[in-house]
Amino acid sequence: MTKKVLVTGATGRTGSLVVKKLQSDDYGWQVISFARSKSKAEEIFTNTENFIFGNILSLEDVSIALQGCQSLIILTSAVPKMITPPSEGKPPEFNFEENGKPEEVDWLGQKNQIDAGKKAGVEHIILVGSMGGTNENHPLNRLGKGNILIWKRKAEQYLIDSGIDYTIIRAGGLLDKPDGKRELLVGKDDEFITSPIDGIPTSIPRGDVANMVIQALNSPFARNKAFDLISKPESEDNTSISIDWDELFKLA
Ligand code: NAP
Repeated sequence: MTKKVLVTGATGRTGSLVVKKLQSDDYGWQVISFARSKSKAEEIFTNTENFIFGNILSLEDVSIALQGCQSLIILTSAVPKMITPPSEGKPPEFNFEENGKPEEVDWLGQKNQIDAGKKAGVEHIILVGSMGGTNENHPLNRLGKGNILIWKRKAEQYLIDSGIDYTIIRAGGLLDKPDGKRELLVGKDDEFITSPIDGIPTSIPRGDVANMVIQALNSPFARNKAFDLISKPESEDNTSISIDWDELFKLA
């Protein structure tokens, strides 16, 4: 029987890549996509069959979507919106949409997904988070006074304590650049920020994060791991990189 995985944040920039990759190659999973906007899903995907529309702030919506799923991929996030651009040496100002603050989306919304997963008997949850969470004074926490990394970490800890197998991928700054062209580096506890490696920025293409998420579905070495993920810069001759995913997960 084909296993089923629910991807939330399916209309997001990384979530949509995960869905498209799972739809176009056979990884042994049927993908169910969860999104809040039908019109956005129709713009991004030619076919919205196997989409379920709802809000992660509703435990009921997520519970309905998770019926029959063995795995859950969480790719939802609060998104800060710039309300005042930088000017005359003043930094830009940000806020969050109504019901879109990190406390709601990244804490309560992710908690709902984990609770619904537990209720539905989901065996494995893969969550994409962010590097920087070891520093409570990280500048991202000041955006819109949202404390985004603090709420994300709280949800990660809730997942770790849930008893469900987990893979938490704390990505560096996300790039809209081609995937499969870079070596990936895994680390712990923000080591790439506190001890930067010469010439390697703390960033990674969204497509490479999507690939890691998908590989985590099937690798036994991805289970019960929480790690940071960045990429080396693209090679000058632009060649594709072959990755031994199990070995990479073993390092995490
Ligand atoms: P994104 O494009 O901002 O997507 C976020 C998704 O969450 C969107 O699809 C959004 O729906 C959905 N969402 C928000 N509130 C929701 C709600 N109440 N109910 C249902 N869905 C909801 O994501 P991304 O930039 O690809 O980032 C993916 C992950 O990586 C996030 O966890 C992010 O924090 C993390 N990360 C980002 C960076 C970075 O540089 N941006 C760095 C490190 C880690 P709509 O499509 O309807 O808006």
